Amino acid sequence: MYAKEDVAALLNDASIDFAQLSIVSAFEVASIDKAPADALVLEHASIVVEKATGEKCERCWSISESVGANEAHPTVCARCAEVVEKYYA
Ligand SMILES: [Zn+2]
Repeated sequence: MYAKEDVAALLNDASIDFAQLSIVSAFEVASIDKAPADALVLEHASIVVEKATGEKCERCWSISESVGANEAHPTVCARCAEVVEKYYA
């Protein structure tokens, strides 16, 4: 998402997982000045949707480059591996 400064400040709130909230695999915020010509233009921001890179997590179905990184749980993403270890180990 390419956002104006005040909106970008809200979207960069680390306590909110905007990727999960938006039901997408990744969510990145940049300055609206850097929005490409083919971005969807909204009132306070512009949006570009792209295919995520990585593998599909078998637990949450997110596409993540962290899938396969955890040897004990090689088919899930880092976030799911943490949840599985905390609650199901
Ligand atoms: Zn996952």
